[in-house]
Amino acid sequence: MSRTASTAPRLYVPDPLAPGAEVPLAAPQAHYLRDVMRMAPGGAVRLFNGRDGAWLAEISALGKGKGAVRCAERIAPQRPEPDVWLLFAPLKSARQDMLVEKAVELGVSVLQPVLTERTQTRRVNPERLAAQVVEAAEQCERLTLPEVRPLADLFDLLAAWPAGRTLFHGDETGGGTPALAAFSAPPGAGGDALLVGPEGGFSPRELDVLRAASFSLGVGFGPRILRAETAALAALSLWQATRGDGGLTPGC
Ligand code: SAM
Repeated sequence: MSRTASTAPRLYVPDPLAPGAEVPLAAPQAHYLRDVMRMAPGGAVRLFNGRDGAWLAEISALGKGKGAVRCAERIAPQRPEPDVWLLFAPLKSARQDMLVEKAVELGVSVLQPVLTERTQTRRVNPERLAAQVVEAAEQCERLTLPEVRPLADLFDLLAAWPAGRTLFHGDETGGGTPALAAFSAPPGAGGDALLVGPEGGFSPRELDVLRAASFSLGVGFGPRILRAETAALAALSLWQATRGDGGLTPGC
């Protein structure tokens, strides 16, 4: 195997990973290894499945649109990752593409698109989202894939909010607690969620419901009005730096 455990291409596979396990490649993965990376049987790849850690594997078969790899050795144990959901109103494609990719890099555990009263884009392509999530997770060397949930109405989500989970909603009106202070407070037992509104912001009705909910807290990300995607990434960065793994070094 010419490539090393730190330079071999990384692939997400759903299959169990164990010594000697033979894992089939999806057609796009076989195409990527064979036609883009110009690899051949015997070449090294790295695998992860979100459960069994990171594995070094060897290409055992590689043809046009098909192939297989065989697990050789585990090179990193599965590690727990922070539990932080991101609820976001669908955005126009380029902005949403950026939001999704960066949220995966920033360690989000659940991506929940929400319909709000001022959401301008009411369509979400689940297959596109799923593919973006895999590509971003492979690149940033995380060992899990965030869960991508179906588009849901904000009021429905709030009505069925899970007990114990704190919802921090981005409040750009100046009525929110500074996010750093909010995230520095002792966390609850049920994980956190971050919610940012659409380009047009939350409606007065939505802000009333959010502010009245016992589990929800308005937070501010500074004096400027951030675009929705900027606010989402600011929220995630601040959250990871205070409640998450933002202080750790890569790969640990
Ligand atoms: N309502 C704003 C307006 O029309 O002037 C625009 C909303 S902003 C583009 C989209 C979302 O990002 C807001 O609903 C809020 O959740 C979040 N956001 C933007 N700036 C923020 C800030 N400084 N603090 C907290 N949240 C912010």
